[in-house]
Amino acid sequence: MKITGTDTFLLRTPLGGAIADSMQSVENLEIVGIRISTDAGITGTGYTITVGYGGSVIQEVLDTLYAGELTGRDPHDVRDIWQRLYFGKAHWIGRAGATTMAQAAVDIALWDIIAKAAERPLWQVLGAATAGTVPVYNTHAGWLNFSIPQLQDEARRLLDQGYTALKMKVGLPDGDEDYRRVRAVRDLVGEQCVLMADANQKWDLRQATRAAQRLEELGLAWLEEPLHPDDIPAHHALKDATSIPIALGEHVYTTHAFRDYLASGAVDVVQVDVCRIGGITPWLEVAAMANAHGVRVCPHAGDLMQVHQHLVRVIPNRWYLEVIPLWEVGPFQHQIRIENGVCLPPVEPGASTDITSAAFEKFRIR
Ligand code: MG
Repeated sequence: MKITGTDTFLLRTPLGGAIADSMQSVENLEIVGIRISTDAGITGTGYTITVGYGGSVIQEVLDTLYAGELTGRDPHDVRDIWQRLYFGKAHWIGRAGATTMAQAAVDIALWDIIAKAAERPLWQVLGAATAGTVPVYNTHAGWLNFSIPQLQDEARRLLDQGYTALKMKVGLPDGDEDYRRVRAVRDLVGEQCVLMADANQKWDLRQATRAAQRLEELGLAWLEEPLHPDDIPAHHALKDATSIPIALGEHVYTTHAFRDYLASGAVDVVQVDVCRIGGITPWLEVAAMANAHGVRVCPHAGDLMQVHQHLVRVIPNRWYLEVIPLWEVGPFQHQIRIENGVCLPPVEPGASTDITSAAFEKFRIR
């Protein structure tokens, strides 16, 4: 099989209402990616997302640095292609950020082709560690722009839908208010519900230590991104100061950085994101490293769950899959299926990344 052509795209999809964490308020998502066609008549789709801006930078990387390197290659040589792109034209300006996110789109598209050629869903092609359902947690209960009554209404609604694990945002300027919000949700959902809190990098070590020690009595499953994602020693110090497990990884761009986090013992839950680490190829390496360290993987929903629903099925150290249901009708041809707080296995061949023509017509801006 040979690659015969590529087509990059940028979609902007409105969310129908702002959602906020301690870092930003988001009203649109951009889906930026590449479709790779082959002489076998198979087309693969890969993408990454942004919170409403920057997608054109990633598309420029795809168009000017990566797309031209693909024609004539066999998609099955995906790991060789990954190395060549990484050490190729983008290396001088890249190794993290827009270049890595663009590389993720290419890598995901290639694995999508490989799975479609095998006429199997990706998780079966990679080798299944489970063929069953996987548990999910829902992040939609806890945006920072929700009032406490809204938080409680949303949590109640999600429990009614069968969710048993919920995540809330923290990191407000007033730490007392963070505590009150988490307390209010914990009181509503009860001790049995798994509850996590996410600070989105808002704190320094002193603030994080104080917040973590305050939140300890609320039985959190983890505290997420309390600190700057590059600061391994600070996470290590925080871990020593609190009994709440530390989760991170959605802003970690390299396998080397994950290795250092794992070796230092500074992380309890790895949230590696296939769209930020550079694709499925390095994602699998990070998950394997975490497994060797006895650390569980709960991928960040930066792929809108479509790819991670496959990847968590091929690793023994999976725990929860993050889900953020954003739309009534999503842009994907084979949207992730959640029922009663679990994710059903995808059945269609490929990586579940194909986007509907209706979404292309409606949302494509470039
Ligand atoms: Mg997060």
